[in-house]
Amino acid sequence: MKSQARVVVIGGGIAGCSTLYHLTQEGWADVVLVERDELTSGTTWHSAAQVTNFGMNQTMVGLKSHSIALYKALSEDPEYPINYHHADGGIRLANTAAQMDGYRHFASMAKGMGVEFEVIDAAECARRHPLISTDNLLGGLWDPLDGDIDPAQLCQALARRARLAGAEIYRHTAVTDLIQKPDNSWVVQTEHGTIECDIVVNAAGYRVNEIGAMMGVHHPVVSMEHQYFLTEDIPAIKEAGHRMPLLRCPISDYYCRQEKNGLLVGFYEQDCKTWGMDGIDPHFTNALCPDDLDRVTDVLEGAFARMPALTETGIHTVVNGPITYTIDGAPLVGPIPGKRNAFCIIGLRAGLGEGGGHGWLLAQQIVHGEACYDTWCIDPRRFTGHANVELTALKAVEDYQNEFRFHFLHEHRPAGRPAKTTPLTPVLAAEGAAFSVVNGWERVDYIKPAPDFHETHGFRFNEVFDVVARDVVAIQGSAGICEVSGFNRFALTGSGVHDFLDRMICGHVPRSVGRVGLGYLLNHDGMLKAEATIANLPDGEVWYGSAAASEFHDMDWLQMHLGPDNNVQIQSLTNDYTALVLAGPRSRDILSAVSREDWSADAFPWLRVRRCFVGIAPAVVMSVSFSGELAYEIHVPNNQLYAAWLALGAAGADHGLHVFGARAVESMRLEKGYLHWKADILTEFDPFETGLDRFVRLDKGPFIGRDALRQRQQNGPHRRLVTLRIDADVAPAHAGSSVVLNDGVVGTVTSGDWGHRVGMNLAYAFVEPEFSTIGTALNVDIVGAPTPSVVIASGPYDPQNSRVRA
Ligand SMILES: Cc1cc2nc3c(=O)[nH]c(=O)nc-3n(C[C@H](O)[C@H](O)[C@H](O)COP(=O)(O)OP(=O)(O)OC[C@H]3O[C@@H](n4cnc5c(N)ncnc54)[C@H](O)[C@@H]3O)c2cc1C
Repeated sequence: MKSQARVVVIGGGIAGCSTLYHLTQEGWADVVLVERDELTSGTTWHSAAQVTNFGMNQTMVGLKSHSIALYKALSEDPEYPINYHHADGGIRLANTAAQMDGYRHFASMAKGMGVEFEVIDAAECARRHPLISTDNLLGGLWDPLDGDIDPAQLCQALARRARLAGAEIYRHTAVTDLIQKPDNSWVVQTEHGTIECDIVVNAAGYRVNEIGAMMGVHHPVVSMEHQYFLTEDIPAIKEAGHRMPLLRCPISDYYCRQEKNGLLVGFYEQDCKTWGMDGIDPHFTNALCPDDLDRVTDVLEGAFARMPALTETGIHTVVNGPITYTIDGAPLVGPIPGKRNAFCIIGLRAGLGEGGGHGWLLAQQIVHGEACYDTWCIDPRRFTGHANVELTALKAVEDYQNEFRFHFLHEHRPAGRPAKTTPLTPVLAAEGAAFSVVNGWERVDYIKPAPDFHETHGFRFNEVFDVVARDVVAIQGSAGICEVSGFNRFALTGSGVHDFLDRMICGHVPRSVGRVGLGYLLNHDGMLKAEATIANLPDGEVWYGSAAASEFHDMDWLQMHLGPDNNVQIQSLTNDYTALVLAGPRSRDILSAVSREDWSADAFPWLRVRRCFVGIAPAVVMSVSFSGELAYEIHVPNNQLYAAWLALGAAGADHGLHVFGARAVESMRLEKGYLHWKADILTEFDPFETGLDRFVRLDKGPFIGRDALRQRQQNGPHRRLVTLRIDADVAPAHAGSSVVLNDGVVGTVTSGDWGHRVGMNLAYAFVEPEFSTIGTALNVDIVGAPTPSVVIASGPYDPQNSRVRA
């Protein structure tokens, strides 16, 4: 066994084998994999191993396309062919109009990744899958490349290719401890000796937290028991003359594929069970949990009703095994929060289909620092401190119960809520707030107009449209107040802060006391990494403010670039403060009534910050606006938040102060051309492509990404972010919707909503540069309908910013 390697991958399931193989493909041959037993002896060996192209966003679709192409190439390798039923086709069923809308949207989104799905009616479903009845069926989504693969052969094929490229694999070699050295390299202790390495990768499947504990971290991953059965031969399958397409059913929560001349049917029962919560037997290897078909009778009946042939055939095998889940259903693939030179590829609940793609994206991150797609949807840093084992278990159960029921727009499910609250949460609940969840934080979406108000979730405008319209009118006419919980903020102190920020940010960093500025952080390729509001407080403290979910991500990036000589200290204040946003023309009057300072436009113009009292509550107030109205962000320590709220509420009573929420903010920020991190600000694009030219100073001196950005500027943009006016009032454009021209995809929507002040259905989209000119007519594919749209100037509301500066 080697005593030294560049990378040690821990775990020889699909996650580890794919990572190892892709590391060699990226050019790193000095890599090893250690496996406590045989390859595939964890979950992988008994997987149903379906391989779909369907995903909830373009990154997931793209990585699954990679899996499919890779598996096809492996299956066709004459030296080591493997069994892959490629392109049997698959149907996701639907019995509601909203589900069908969802499929139309996902088809539009996948089209932008070169993947062609088809939305078909019930009769066509039955024509393609002769075993199903059309009772209670509206139709479905057809995935032509759906199939299944032999999981053990797949891993062996990847391992073989990795070995041929120089990688080594040590079987029956359990990792027993991990020690990080002061230079951030690792010592991997195993049953058979020690390997020193630069980088470790946790790919330990359901034993993820045994490895996590060795490095002092807890990963938000929990295992669930999951069952399928295999039937005897079914004559109708042989008679059909073709392989049965796969089925996935959100109506009765099962999947089904052909296995030999019978069926394999797997279940996502409501009465589901977590597994291994109190530790895992060290001898549980190549093992299964006891059969428990009684638990799945609720969903079994639905499967039998859909496929009556099941009632006439015997079951010969039941498989019940552990499968890992995270808080939001997507895996954790990327850097381990708070650690250096440590990565993970864990929490895979559909790891056979996705594993090829995840290993590909992880290897790119390890070798190049970044992958070809924005990987935020699988980034392990997307959950912060609240992501403990109990919350993960609740979300895992909920997610399992809803396996094939995708989230509708603005749908936030109830398990594990509330996780993170402020002292105002119960106050706002009493006001009738409908909450959404942002990184665990409860955040007001809107105030319900009546206690029995109920939102119909789907992909079209609904009854909340009028509620938001009223919010916007109130803010524009007078004033509104909104709590922004979880807003991320770091306090930076030390003599080196501004020099450090100058190196991290690609534009001007305000240095004067009392000034606020917006800055963008790039990666070494010149692509957008983070967005920060920099505020210079009077006492020399500098606040770095960013999106609610960015705390671990941004801290990681800042700390990574902090040298011992920088004299900069960074402290997170995210959980200590909450921001109240006061917006609208009367907001100055309200603030003046509760605070002794001079709030006139001369004394405190746009983009200023000061410390003051709001009533009796100490506060940091910034004159910044995300709404396009005169506005103040008021940051208050949580223990005095309610006091500030009461003071502002009392002062606002004379001005018709109106409580609003995130849905009004979303509408207003689109009218102003303001962007959201990880919706519109993506690592796949540089600041010029994203329309942030005014925030770049290439001539200011060195900053991270400068040289690469210069080169990119010379090469010209690959895409451009534009604002679109969409000529339809039934539905907004959704993130991922394809922008099309003459049947070709020329762009992808990142955000969309109705702009109530300008009376337009607005969207942002990255489009090919030749279609970015104002006035260009395009179509946006919205829930199945190509909808006429036109490129307009960004920020159609008050383009002179006269209201913000008032
Ligand atoms: C019943 C069932 C059906 C499924 N069907 C599908 C499907 O149709 N399609 C799909 O895509 N997915 C499916 N899945 C999920 C899929 O099988 C998993 O996502 C995938 O196999 C997980 O692979 P992994 O490599 O992450 O974990 P594992 O396969 O569990 O591999 C982890 C490896 O790490 C090793 N290890 C652990 N600790 C150590 C240590 N200390 N030292 C060294 N090695 C260690 C283990 O021995 C193990 O081999 C199914 C799962 C189940 C249970």
